Amino acid sequence: MKNNSYRGLLVWQTFFIVFGIVTSAFISRYHWKENFTKQVEEQLEHSLTTFIKVYDTKYVLLENVCNFSQKKSSSRLTLIRDNGVVVCDSNTSAEEMDNHNSRPELILAKKNSWGSAIRYSDTLKQDMFYGAIQWKTEKGIFYLRESIQISAMERTLTKVDKYIFIVLIPFLIVFSILSILLWHRYEVKKQEQLDRLKVDLVSNISHEVRTPLTSIKGFVQLLVSTESELSPNAKESLSKIEKNTNRLNSLFTEILDLNKVEKRKTTTIEEVDLEIMVDSILSNMNLIYKEKNIETVLNLESNIIKSDYELLEHILVNLIENAFKYNKDNGEVTITSSSAGSKTLIIISDTGNGIAPNHQERIFERFYRVDDARNSGTGGSGLGLAIVKHSVSHLNGEITFESKIDFGSHFKVLI
Ligand code: ADP
Repeated sequence: MKNNSYRGLLVWQTFFIVFGIVTSAFISRYHWKENFTKQVEEQLEHSLTTFIKVYDTKYVLLENVCNFSQKKSSSRLTLIRDNGVVVCDSNTSAEEMDNHNSRPELILAKKNSWGSAIRYSDTLKQDMFYGAIQWKTEKGIFYLRESIQISAMERTLTKVDKYIFIVLIPFLIVFSILSILLWHRYEVKKQEQLDRLKVDLVSNISHEVRTPLTSIKGFVQLLVSTESELSPNAKESLSKIEKNTNRLNSLFTEILDLNKVEKRKTTTIEEVDLEIMVDSILSNMNLIYKEKNIETVLNLESNIIKSDYELLEHILVNLIENAFKYNKDNGEVTITSSSAGSKTLIIISDTGNGIAPNHQERIFERFYRVDDARNSGTGGSGLGLAIVKHSVSHLNGEITFESKIDFGSHFKVLI
């Protein structure tokens, strides 16, 4: 839940930052264009104002005014009468040009003595910037119009656009990826820290509990030794205390085992005699589950295998113990091993209760127990198979199983 809200916050934060940067880039571009146009207009107005001030219409023919622009290829001069008739034009012959009364820059100039407009020129076939100034002479009112190509301005704007796409967009992509990576690193670190805390807490509690538990066990054993002096009721209670103390003890041992396996970072590979290990486990199990009268069948092909002793022991102890624990009375446990390429395949089969299909997916989860009538009283903790799974994965192995209710189970370990 907390994870999701952090993720949501980060996505929104990244979105707003990216949105903010893109929006400000486009707003800046817009303002830059506005400023540029304004500057061009001011320059044009200034140069035309100066021009009509210095141009002496008494001595120089008005029709010659357009010749002043010929040197400047990007600029064009047009002289227009107050009635819209073109007197001269630096690029085109005046006779070919229509009445200019309806031109926006001229309409504005008639009103305010200066007018400007950006539009497409049919004569020059491109976008132009037009600035027209009112020119009062002794020969009447004229309008001197200068038009300049705005391709130069467009070129600069294209550069700005390129800057936005080549610099800004990759920057934003890198920025977004970096934010996601940073968030991911933060989450992984946080999870690792939490896991460490959890493992440490559980292991500290287990250690703390085991000390008084050992002392309780000792006192119980002391009392058991004086059994003859006890009443039948006290004897029964004592046996219950002993049983439960043993259960608690094995539960905390398994918790510590699981923690140890989970914390493990390295493996110590050595030559392990599988037969010796299996024999020792079996003699122990035969003792614990003596009443069940389980028959064991051994079929070990590859005896000496290269593995981590402690991890392999965890795997075999838990799987073999389950094969005994969940077996029927007078049942059978078969252990086989064979080499499979560079690995070893170990199969532990039993003729027990089997695991119902609806439980099969979850039996490797910690504390998961199939708690039904057939398993009642087995007293497991639900940690055995979790220890097996972690140990197998530390050894880069694989564990699979097949199980049929009332027929038994086969656990296959490839390590
Ligand atoms: P537990 O301490 O309960 O044995 P495990 O993690 O070893 O915990 O096993 C989880 C559950 O899987 C057990 O409660 C049991 O119901 C089921 N299970 C495991 N091995 C076998 C088996 N060989 N036969 C039948 N059921 C099994």
